[in-house]
Amino acid sequence: MLTTWPPTLPVLQEGPKLFAQWVKEMTNEQLEIQVYGGGELVPALEAFDAVSQGTAEIGHGASYYWAGKIPAAQFFAAVPFGMNPQQMNAWIISGGGLELWEKVYAPFNLLPLPGGNTGIQMGGWFNKEINSVNDLKGLKMRIPGLGGKVISKAGGSAVLSAGSEIYTNLERGVIDATEWIGPYHDYMMGFYKVARYYYYPGWHEPGPNLEFFINKGAFSKLPSDLQQIVRNAAAKVHHWMLCEFESRNNLYLQKLIHEENVDLRPFPSEVLEQLRSYSEEVIGEIVRSDPQSRNVYDAYTSFRNQITPWADISEKIYYTKNL
Ligand code: CA
Repeated sequence: MLTTWPPTLPVLQEGPKLFAQWVKEMTNEQLEIQVYGGGELVPALEAFDAVSQGTAEIGHGASYYWAGKIPAAQFFAAVPFGMNPQQMNAWIISGGGLELWEKVYAPFNLLPLPGGNTGIQMGGWFNKEINSVNDLKGLKMRIPGLGGKVISKAGGSAVLSAGSEIYTNLERGVIDATEWIGPYHDYMMGFYKVARYYYYPGWHEPGPNLEFFINKGAFSKLPSDLQQIVRNAAAKVHHWMLCEFESRNNLYLQKLIHEENVDLRPFPSEVLEQLRSYSEEVIGEIVRSDPQSRNVYDAYTSFRNQITPWADISEKIYYTKNL
């Protein structure tokens, strides 16, 4: 198994390792999986091709990493101002999302399975205050994917840097801002030492759905009981990861605020409204130029519209009334 994560990254790399352990235990050691982090066998962002071609048999990552090759893939991970983790799960597992995702990956000889969720992320670390959209102009921010395209629309520049380089780039002023994940992982990265303001919410990643991708040839060679065990272990990881993030993030948020005196700020509503409008433009451009993206995004949107009236009088009202 190849993952896209640094070999020691908490939760994200722990999940695939637990997956291998659970598969081994459930199969009485009939099926053993060796897990390699990004860069250990192939560079992180080559995992998709390596599993597709059969160099490895299974991978773990996030489908927006493959947007350069398959633009539609990113809609199975995260959409700026899109669905939250619970809603993504409903779409993928019970709303037809997984069947669509299987069709998108089929030409690559891959079977996708949901493989975790980080929960809603943080907006990121900034070395200047963001009081209006004008403050985003000229801003050099490490922010990947659709979020990066949105920042570019706002007049900033989205810089790509590998996880290991972000801290130094921020410290040296190569970038003015970065997003990463949430308080737990951001604390581990030490960004509070080199950035002044910690903004919320993570409008660009409101609940990224992670993935396993399995070489179909390798999977088809397994007897059906082992196939079911692989599916079950993946489902267990999918559930476990979101629970880990939810249970730990506040512990580290409080450390950041009370021990490291981080200046925690909400993005102004006016900034979020403008970013939402730029997000619609960015997605519009993608779906107009790629029929498969249009198809997937239409399914995403119609599912979201279908569930929203219920969410409005349940989850949303529950939080806004501070119950
Ligand atoms: Ca992120």
